[in-house]
Amino acid sequence: MALLRARARLAALPLIQLRPRGRMSAFADGSSLCSPRLRILPPQGGKGSLLRLAWSILLLLAILSSPAHAVELTGHLTQGGLVTGRAQPGDKVLLGDRALLVGEDGLFVFGFGRDQGQSAQLTIVHPDGTTEQQMIAVAQRSFDIQRIDNMEQAKVTPNPADLARIKAEQEKVNEVRGVPTPARDFLVPFIWPAHGPISGVYGSQRILNGEPRAPHYGLDIAAPEGSPVVAPAPGMVRLVASDFFLTGGTVIIDHGFGVQSSFIHMKALTAKVGTYVQQGEVIGHVGKTGRATGPHLHWGMTWLDVRLDPAFWVPPQQAQN
Ligand SMILES: [Zn+2]
Repeated sequence: MALLRARARLAALPLIQLRPRGRMSAFADGSSLCSPRLRILPPQGGKGSLLRLAWSILLLLAILSSPAHAVELTGHLTQGGLVTGRAQPGDKVLLGDRALLVGEDGLFVFGFGRDQGQSAQLTIVHPDGTTEQQMIAVAQRSFDIQRIDNMEQAKVTPNPADLARIKAEQEKVNEVRGVPTPARDFLVPFIWPAHGPISGVYGSQRILNGEPRAPHYGLDIAAPEGSPVVAPAPGMVRLVASDFFLTGGTVIIDHGFGVQSSFIHMKALTAKVGTYVQQGEVIGHVGKTGRATGPHLHWGMTWLDVRLDPAFWVPPQQAQN
């Protein structure tokens, strides 16, 4: 049903014609499209959440209309979603004004942030100079409010020295997020980096000790302190920091094309900058370092500076013994 809504919604846009393929299917039953990594986590928050999720997540394999050059898109055309596409070799591809990395085979990737508007413009420039522009409809989600009241006040309202430290640490993160690499490790199906109850979801508006703060851009997995944290997919370790002010023990892994995963509040980090980790390799352990009220892993996914929803990357959690 979600799929039908998606198709209807997209079809209503004047610049798009969809030519669904036989493989096209909704994800509600956990089935995959051509890319099995893009699955959704079951809703964590009851019926309202279920309806919102069902309504907001569009899963499709589509061909944007073009008589000569079909562009195939796969993924989640919604806030927090990642989309992969395949243009013709030699094409240039832009999302809005942003030029995308295009692989030799035409592969490209883009993501939508939490506050992405209802549409985005994709531009394909062919080697002969001809240009096509397509509008993409982006499903809008609604996000919960999460209140956390027992947080150390100095971490909620940092003093000027701590603010300067936070800024310097953020710059280190920005440095490793800026440039996409041609690696394709993000194409493998991801596994959970840790196991445990989900204690925080992507996009929630945060109210810390009664004060509104930035939204929550990741998935919190509550697990006992010291539990291993593993790489959810192979990749190059780009940042390891043991004591960032807000994020504590922090590791960032680069999976290529601008797609990176980050793991924070950890302790006993084992990942090393500049090394390549395999999927399932231990990178650190669950802690409560930085701004955390208890042991948990905060897992974030990004495409360049765009924060994505990690729940789209993994199948439902399996019961652990
Ligand atoms: Zn978190």
